[in-house]
Amino acid sequence: MSDKITEHLFQGSLRYVQGTSAFRNAPKYLSVLGKAPLVICDSETFTTAGREFIATLERAGFEVGYAEFVEGNPIKEIDRLATLARDYRVEFIIGLGASEALDCAKVIAQTHHLPLASIPTTAATDAPCSAVSYAPNGPFDHYSFSTKNPNVLLVDTSIIAKSPARYLASEIGDAIAIHLEAQSSRRNASPWKGLTAEVVSAIGDKCQETLFKYGKLAYEANKAHAVTPAFEAVVEANTLLSRLSFESGGVAAAHSIHNGLSVIPALHGLLHGEKVAFGVVVQLVLLNAPPSELDKYITFLLSVDLPVTFELLGIPNVSDEDLRAVSKLACSRGETIWTMDIGNSITEDKVFHAIKGADAAGREHIRRTNRPKTKL
Ligand SMILES: [Zn+2]
Repeated sequence: MSDKITEHLFQGSLRYVQGTSAFRNAPKYLSVLGKAPLVICDSETFTTAGREFIATLERAGFEVGYAEFVEGNPIKEIDRLATLARDYRVEFIIGLGASEALDCAKVIAQTHHLPLASIPTTAATDAPCSAVSYAPNGPFDHYSFSTKNPNVLLVDTSIIAKSPARYLASEIGDAIAIHLEAQSSRRNASPWKGLTAEVVSAIGDKCQETLFKYGKLAYEANKAHAVTPAFEAVVEANTLLSRLSFESGGVAAAHSIHNGLSVIPALHGLLHGEKVAFGVVVQLVLLNAPPSELDKYITFLLSVDLPVTFELLGIPNVSDEDLRAVSKLACSRGETIWTMDIGNSITEDKVFHAIKGADAAGREHIRRTNRPKTKL
């Protein structure tokens, strides 16, 4: 077998279901996986959505096991729940809720070679569609590439609309990064070691177009808990299009900057996409993007209250020493920044300057447009 990568690759979920009745119609879509699922979700999700969801399945003749996911120590939790899944003799795994529970379900399904249904209850997660899991909070540790894509991904938009709009905005930040990142790494292989298939660019284009067109409208609709066509379109862009693009196209500097920012404890409370959004501006600066393009992205990110300056990130007085540490981690071995087509010319020092340049560009934009500042 040759080490050379010559195949074009596209990878994705098998079945995607989205709508305001997705929960109610779940038995129809999940019965292809069996009748005895183990539902993994945290206690809060169980109260807000899980109890009713399980009752719906039971009324349709499913034999449902429920395992409460306890946040805090995902590795230990995965061990505990994997044992439970074995003892229950389940036919498939359902991850319900936010990213940690969905990631945990993914690993357990993979461990036991079971089908997986992923059911996010917020739009703020990388987890539901993809086969990649990683530490969502605290210092970045490592990407864990599981081979498990969900067999069914079910998104009930009436539930997503009840979650805070900040989650939707965060995921918009993540999704807007992904096409940009795939475009800057076109000569390199995706996380699955395949060359990017043409379909990935088409999906990325559509994702970008949808977000620029409807992102702001969807954000405002979410604040009013309204499921509008714009909201539906953006949830699909965030959950399906960006994931398909990411999985087969890969990520680049914006995500490395996100990982680098994890060395600053003051940022641990921020959501994934909020840090990636700042990474988008850094990547554009690093790529020496034309001012019009930089302006387009900064205007858009600010329109959904995503941070483009140190002040908006909540670290107005961050030191150069801290920023050097951020660039060091962002440029560590195996980071996705190296997959960029300009990877050979990138250095830690250039990244450090690009981070400061991004903050400067963000501040200049806000000054020029007289935009009121919104802190996270
Ligand atoms: Zn991401």
